[in-house]
Amino acid sequence: MTDRQPGFDTLQIHAGANPDPATGARQVPIYQSTAFVFRDADHAAALFNLQEVGWIYSRLTNPTVAALAERIVALEGGVGGICCSSGHAAQIMALFPLMMPGNNVVASSRLYGGTYTQLTQTIKRFGWGSKLVDFDDLDAVRAAIDEDTRAIFCESIANPGGYITDLDAIAKIADEAGLPLIVDNTSASPYLCNPIKHGATLVVHSTTKYLTGNGTVTGGALVDSGKFDWGASGKFPSLAAPEPAYHGLNFYEALGSMAFTFHSIAVGLRDLGMTMNPQGAHYTLMGIESLSLRMEKHVANAQKVAAWLEADDRIETVTYAGLESSPYYDRVERICPRGAGALFTFAIKGGYENCVKLIDSMELFSHVANLGDARSLVIHPASTTHRQLSDEQRAAAGAAPNVVRVSIGIEDPDDIIADLDQALTKALA
Ligand SMILES: *Cc1c(COP(=O)(O)O)cnc(C)c1O
Repeated sequence: MTDRQPGFDTLQIHAGANPDPATGARQVPIYQSTAFVFRDADHAAALFNLQEVGWIYSRLTNPTVAALAERIVALEGGVGGICCSSGHAAQIMALFPLMMPGNNVVASSRLYGGTYTQLTQTIKRFGWGSKLVDFDDLDAVRAAIDEDTRAIFCESIANPGGYITDLDAIAKIADEAGLPLIVDNTSASPYLCNPIKHGATLVVHSTTKYLTGNGTVTGGALVDSGKFDWGASGKFPSLAAPEPAYHGLNFYEALGSMAFTFHSIAVGLRDLGMTMNPQGAHYTLMGIESLSLRMEKHVANAQKVAAWLEADDRIETVTYAGLESSPYYDRVERICPRGAGALFTFAIKGGYENCVKLIDSMELFSHVANLGDARSLVIHPASTTHRQLSDEQRAAAGAAPNVVRVSIGIEDPDDIIADLDQALTKALA
């Protein structure tokens, strides 16, 4: 091989996966083993001291899961990372080394429904807080940051409307405040957007979605850019001061740019146990090989379907950022130049009842709480994912009663449009 830097299409197939040293197996084997035998007592001690990297126990690391983690790290342009049991687990794992009781995360108000609840309610149990603001209002983001803030959090292409976040502008604010920026890149996938290039410190994924791409398995990933100086402010003692949970090791001093990754394994996965299993990693490794091909088709289909909807007089609005009418259209070229994804909402003329009728009339679309599948999917946020929110919160999140969220699949686009057409006719009859 020459020393040229492999392209995305090559990395999605080869990164993290050499032929199996024991058998020559070309595909990544499913290492269905809980534990791995130490060569001798010194080897075991070196592994536990983080002096040598190797396999100990599958709650910490597993060769199949590590191959997937390395591949996602390569696709995102990071230095290290881990896989987790779900996207939500990855989000907790991203915050865990940063936050102590009393700390808060400043997050965008445009979030996946489950993330909204996780950040506004559930993390309170850990003594963590959150402040959700409109990330298009940069002054509001700056104003929300206080002495106790330890992270900034947003989605690259944000739920449910497919809004595109100005990552460069948000990263600049995070930088000025000396805080890490965590970007959930699930809806874009690393093929459409690389948040690290726009200044993100950490990238999180629900691998459940496009990375797996076939709706078989839940999983998450966390990628570290390796660029953040954890020692600069004294605000991140877990990483840059003696960590009592790991015999007083100063991870940043000992491991430099790999501090976050090693902390996530040695303390995070060890004690929180939100581990991906090797069988799950296998399904995602199968899916990820065709990521770029699928994303091209997802985007082409979404573009066609969104344009058709916008031209239909039964439709009030379409939020797809790939349409020139979108206020986010100008950001596509800069933030996700290969396309605005395949997730968007549209509002129909009529209200809650018409929306419910529309969903119940769909035949090709599956009515599920999921996105990023090869299949076209639909959901009515107001009655499902955003049900727990108040009317005001729903409006702020782009989930009004007459709004439907679609995740456009990779079927024949004319079939997708035909299904929407017949369902709209029934919904508004
Ligand atoms: C699905 C999703 C999550 C949560 O991921 P799980 O794998 O379901 O835990 C988080 N963020 C976004 C944008 C998602 O689409």
